[in-house]
Amino acid sequence: MIASKISIIGAGPAGATAALLLAKMGIASVLMDKAKFPRDKICGDALSGKVVETLSKIIPDFSAQFLQTNIQVPCYGVEFVAPNLQSIKLPFKKDFETNKTAPGFVSKRIDFDNFLINEVKKQPLIQLFENTNITSFEKQNDGWLLKNEDDSFVCKTNLVMAANGAQSQFSKKIGGIEMEPKHYCAGLRAYYKNVSGLSEHNFIELHFLKEFLPGYFWIFPLPNGMANVGVGMRSDYVSNKKVNLKKEMLHIISTLPNLKERFKNAELVDDIKGYGLPLGSRKRKLSGDNFLLLGDAASLIDPFTGEGVGNALWSAEIAALQAKKSIEENNFSAKELKNYDQEIYKKLGGELQLSYRMQQLVNFPWLFNFIVKKSNNNQLLRDTLMCMFDDVNVRAQLKKPSFYFRLLFSN
Ligand SMILES: Cc1cc2nc3c(=O)[nH]c(=O)nc-3n(C[C@H](O)[C@H](O)[C@H](O)COP(=O)(O)OP(=O)(O)OC[C@H]3O[C@@H](n4cnc5c(N)ncnc54)[C@H](O)[C@@H]3O)c2cc1C
Repeated sequence: MIASKISIIGAGPAGATAALLLAKMGIASVLMDKAKFPRDKICGDALSGKVVETLSKIIPDFSAQFLQTNIQVPCYGVEFVAPNLQSIKLPFKKDFETNKTAPGFVSKRIDFDNFLINEVKKQPLIQLFENTNITSFEKQNDGWLLKNEDDSFVCKTNLVMAANGAQSQFSKKIGGIEMEPKHYCAGLRAYYKNVSGLSEHNFIELHFLKEFLPGYFWIFPLPNGMANVGVGMRSDYVSNKKVNLKKEMLHIISTLPNLKERFKNAELVDDIKGYGLPLGSRKRKLSGDNFLLLGDAASLIDPFTGEGVGNALWSAEIAALQAKKSIEENNFSAKELKNYDQEIYKKLGGELQLSYRMQQLVNFPWLFNFIVKKSNNNQLLRDTLMCMFDDVNVRAQLKKPSFYFRLLFSN
């Protein structure tokens, strides 16, 4: 039997980052994953500024180091295509053409997650167990006993960090987190090669097509002329409208005039695969006696952008700091760990609520069209929308009625 004060279920971005941050503070942990790395994870593969910010605290000069690898493309902005097909390109940074510091990246998750696991393997304070599917969790007085299917792996721990993704049984059975279709998104991912018309600066593209509202379609550039192409739609709409996402996606690619041409010579590599996105549009309880929920297991995906890796990393950082405090005070009670929930929602709550409101924008295509048209003619508005993904203060402007009033009457 293995014993550790801190045990982390799931070695995806949330779990691996929590272990790395703990190790940086001199704290040992056990990290378990049912998979053997490198392993695939269905995702859009876009890594935001939050990822760069958090990993820079672990890996000195992360951005420059990652840029040297051949598993990424640096990403400098986002292009939104409105339902009327007008589009707006928003750089993440104004000086992106001269300042080559990458604000974000696109990297296949099979590669990016393995990059993190390689960092984990360098750390003597982290015991990594791959091929270890944790299926049983027994509550004990001072923590939990975690076991795999045939009990060949048993781990006794004071604090469980459940970082095992959207289908976490720990979140469901112990954390009480249910899948709620209104706060959940269904997504499909496909890898294509030879999609034409990709942006010179690797802008990611989000298309809000009138034929596919309230869903969205994306094209994200990858290394070696590849692209991550996918669709997402809230699960309640998928079931109410009986949408066949795969059929819709192939229809979009093969028939819509603006896209058909770009996919003329494109070739599908690998199968089209689907997975769920637990959205952070509803506040939930994220801790209890001797446990914390992290990343997708805590339903922290941004409801507007679908970005989950950055929030997973932020939750890992808050969890690691809470674990340090709990160890110092030898207090792993639900009452103490509630501070984790408070810190999470202090940091992310406003942003998640704002994104939830922005998600509603897709129900008003005319408003979407109008904002894109105006932005193309109005530098001030374009500047405001710029960094929308990064800067909550900028996003906060979008919820003020005065913003729309100014928009209506500005040139
Ligand atoms: C279609 C789609 C597109 C997306 N696009 C983007 C995007 O472009 N950018 C972005 O930032 N986010 C995106 N997301 C969200 C993003 O993928 C997640 O938010 C992110 O992976 C969360 O990281 P995590 O570490 O919490 O969970 P995961 O990445 O899911 O990792 C969980 C780990 O736990 C392991 N595990 C599971 N069960 C067990 C068990 N019982 N025992 C042991 N180990 C276990 C798994 O093997 C896995 O390694 C997308 C999601 C989907 C579905």
